[in-house]
Amino acid sequence: MSTSFYGDHYSSYFNVSRVRKVSSETSESVTTSTTLATSTSSITSNKSTSAVHKPIEDEELRKLRRLWWEEGNIHPQAKWEEAKLPYVIAKDITLDEYEKRTDEFNVHGLWEWINYEVIIYELPLKRHETFIGSITSEIMEKCLPAKRTDAEIGNLGAIRTRVDNSGKEADACFRPSKPPVQPPNGSDREGEPWPNIVIEVAYSESEQHVLDKVKKYWLGNLDRVHDAIVVKIDPVSTGQIPKRMQAWHFCISDKRHRYRDVPHRTYFEFGTHDKDGNPIDIQQGQCIIKISLDCLYHDKFPDIVIPRQLLPDPIVLDFFLIRESFLLLLEQLICDKTLAD
Ligand SMILES: [Zn+2]
Repeated sequence: MSTSFYGDHYSSYFNVSRVRKVSSETSESVTTSTTLATSTSSITSNKSTSAVHKPIEDEELRKLRRLWWEEGNIHPQAKWEEAKLPYVIAKDITLDEYEKRTDEFNVHGLWEWINYEVIIYELPLKRHETFIGSITSEIMEKCLPAKRTDAEIGNLGAIRTRVDNSGKEADACFRPSKPPVQPPNGSDREGEPWPNIVIEVAYSESEQHVLDKVKKYWLGNLDRVHDAIVVKIDPVSTGQIPKRMQAWHFCISDKRHRYRDVPHRTYFEFGTHDKDGNPIDIQQGQCIIKISLDCLYHDKFPDIVIPRQLLPDPIVLDFFLIRESFLLLLEQLICDKTLAD
C-alpha cells in the first residue's frame, strides 16, 4: 500500500513509534493533584488551590515540562504524572511550527494545537499505547479478508488533521480508498478525505476531554468522520493492571440536529471492575460494537464494490476479546519487568 495514497502523514502504530523517548520515571499514577492549578501553563481557571505550592516551584516545573515542547525531552523530574491535563505547554505557536515539532519529535495522539496553543492531553504511557495496539489489530483482523483487494481498509494510524482553527490527531483511524473532497472540507482543510472510523483511547486523558473531541471535532458535522469508538481506561499505579474500562460507539447517522451533539449508540463497561471497585464478570459476546459496512465504506470511490461476500455486515468488535488481548500484553510487560509505566 502506498503511503502517499494516504497523504504525507501516515504513521502506523506498528511501524512508527508515537513518541521519540519515554522516561522510565514517568509513572502511571495520575492523580488529581492541583500542583499546576495556578500555573500560567495550566488551562484550568480554578484559582482556589493557590496555597498548594510556592510559585517558584511551579515555575521550575513549568520549565522542565516545557522541555518536551522545546527539545522532545520528557524530563524525569518534570512530574508529568502529576500534571493536570489538558496542559498548555506553549503559547503563540503557529500551526506550521506545531506540526514541524510533532514530526521532529515523533509525537502523535498526545498533543493538540488549538488557537495558537499547544496542549498536552495524554501522556506517552505503555497502557495507552498497548490498548491502541489491541483494538487496532482486532479491527485489522476483521478487515483482513478484503486485504489486497480494491476494497482494502487502510490503517491510517494517527493521521494529522487541521480544521476549526485546531490541529488534532486520533489514536487510530481507518478508511477505504476515497476520492479527494471539495476544499476546504478535507481533513487537512484542503482536499484530503476524512477517515471513516476513528479510535480514541483515553488513559491519562480525561473522559470529558476525549468525548468532547469526538462529538465536537471528529463528528462535528456530517462531512467528517462516520463512526468513532472511544475507550476510557481509568489510570492505575505503576505495576498495576487497569481495572475499569468503558467504551462508547458513535455513528454520525445518529446526529439528529445540526447544532446538537451526536448521542452515543452503544455504551458499556468492559473492565474487570466497575467505578466502585466491584468486580464485573463480562462474557464473550456481551460487550460488542457493531460497525456496518456502509459506515466503513462511506464515500468510497464509486467503482469500489463493498465486499459483502468477504466481510460480515456488520463487523462485530468484541471488547471481551480486545480486553483479553490487552491484559495479556500488559501482563507480559510486567513479567518482563519493563512496565515502568
Ligand atoms: Zn456510521
